[in-house]
Amino acid sequence: MLNVTDIETAHVSAAVLATRLERAQAAAAAAGLDAVLVSPGPDLRYLTGYQALPLERLTLLVLPAAGEPVLIAPRLEVPAALASPVGSLGLPVRPWDETDDPYALVADLAGSATSVAVDARMWAEKALRIMAALPSAQVRSAGPALGRLRAIKDAAEIAALQRAGAAIDAVHAQVPELLRPGRTERAVGRDIADLITAAGHVTVDFVIVASGPNGASPHHEVSDRVLQPNEPIVVDIGGTMPDGYCSDSTRVYALGDVGAEYREYYETLYEAQAVGVAAGRVGAACADVDAATRRVMVDGGIGDYFIHRTGHGIGLETHEDPYIVETNRTPMEVGMAYSVEPGFYVEGRFGARIEDIVVLTEDGPMSVNHAPRELVVVDA
Ligand code: ZN
Ligand code: ZN
Repeated sequence: MLNVTDIETAHVSAAVLATRLERAQAAAAAAGLDAVLVSPGPDLRYLTGYQALPLERLTLLVLPAAGEPVLIAPRLEVPAALASPVGSLGLPVRPWDETDDPYALVADLAGSATSVAVDARMWAEKALRIMAALPSAQVRSAGPALGRLRAIKDAAEIAALQRAGAAIDAVHAQVPELLRPGRTERAVGRDIADLITAAGHVTVDFVIVASGPNGASPHHEVSDRVLQPNEPIVVDIGGTMPDGYCSDSTRVYALGDVGAEYREYYETLYEAQAVGVAAGRVGAACADVDAATRRVMVDGGIGDYFIHRTGHGIGLETHEDPYIVETNRTPMEVGMAYSVEPGFYVEGRFGARIEDIVVLTEDGPMSVNHAPRELVVVDA
């Protein structure tokens, strides 16, 4: 029987991690960096399999462009580090004691560097102390270099995103039972959160239940507003699976009859989302998917109500490269995973969004979400 730790690490072998470290080193060299410094967070998990606690005490992977990577870790975290894939990788660990200055270790390991990058999610206080410890180094963000690596998913990661997609689809399938006039968004949201966990996620990352006019705010979460008959409800939900991969899916529910105007807008949205999914193509720019989606919205007369980009990459984070936005000329590649989530938002009245996670495969774009995208009508 698999325990939780086995499930978390089952699909990331030491060989895969070693390859990721090598590719990150090559990317660092290509970017003219002497070293990449990675604190606890998604980059560290991606490169080493170690889901370190994000603490004030410094844990830091020092990854030189050439040479052996070293993990700096507080002595009390060393057992946890070695129990993670860091142990099977054979990554050297440099422990520090409570009264030591861990930034002196950074200077020791990377003191000769003139150009280093820190992971994009690093706490400012750590980045500032690293800059002070490496006075001769130019310090920049490792976001572009590592983001490009993480944007291309391997087969195991795609399978992980499919499991996450199936889990969130299972939650959407149960949402209609929760919607009744008289319930608050908050009460519905609590039930959805329980379902997200029951479906296999280890964390509930967000629950948006936006009823009636609240749907006009794309990132409304929940409120004490009571659901009314004959109004739409936007439900955008996501969580993180035990292996670290995220789900994110939006569907719209109609509590009774939402009226002809809304249904007309929704038809345009439905078409825009389908066109956006189909637009993913190797060699096309990420911006092309945004343009294809937006064109349908504009032609349908609701372009002005589509106030955000079409989507975002997803993997160990809900939002990561590649961003599906008008300004992103990055060519699409096999293995990219991203959301296609157009919406319309009419201030004071209503809103809608349809969101699937799509993986670009050799055979074209493949959605990992399969819950019906039509307006789901629930009896009021
Ligand atoms: Zn999303
Ligand atoms: Zn979403």
